[in-house]
Amino acid sequence: MSSNEGKILELVTDRDVQVQECEIGFGVFSNRSFRAGDIIGIATGEIIFDPDYSSDYCVELSSTMSIEPGAPFRFLNHCCEPNAEFASDEVSKRNQIPDLYVYACKAISAGEQILIDYQWPAHYAIPCECGSKNCRGWVVCDEELHLIEFE
Ligand SMILES: [Zn+2]
Repeated sequence: MSSNEGKILELVTDRDVQVQECEIGFGVFSNRSFRAGDIIGIATGEIIFDPDYSSDYCVELSSTMSIEPGAPFRFLNHCCEPNAEFASDEVSKRNQIPDLYVYACKAISAGEQILIDYQWPAHYAIPCECGSKNCRGWVVCDEELHLIEFE
């Protein structure tokens, strides 16, 4: 544990979550409890209209559109057993850009880190150290795990 543990970054806090230093850099932590299915927040950020765009943090909104999330949700860490997920809302298309929701897929307690499953394709995969019981060993989506094992 670093001596910075618990230090809260200013200017990147939201009402219900906060970006906080953790063992692997920064993470998003809950300030309240959420029930499974609750919306934790809406990710905002730069919208990129390029079907070939990719980065460590971008999330695909459609076949031609990605979002590069800003704080706080840019700092969501990966876990093979996540407690949250992204879901884009194709119904409310203000400016034709779907909103990207972060919602709880499990109950989350106040103070708990909010974690999503990055589900990266095999060619982006890095070893996973999430420590969950069912860790896949790699930050990669289930369907492409076999591609790594044969590399
Ligand atoms: Zn893992």
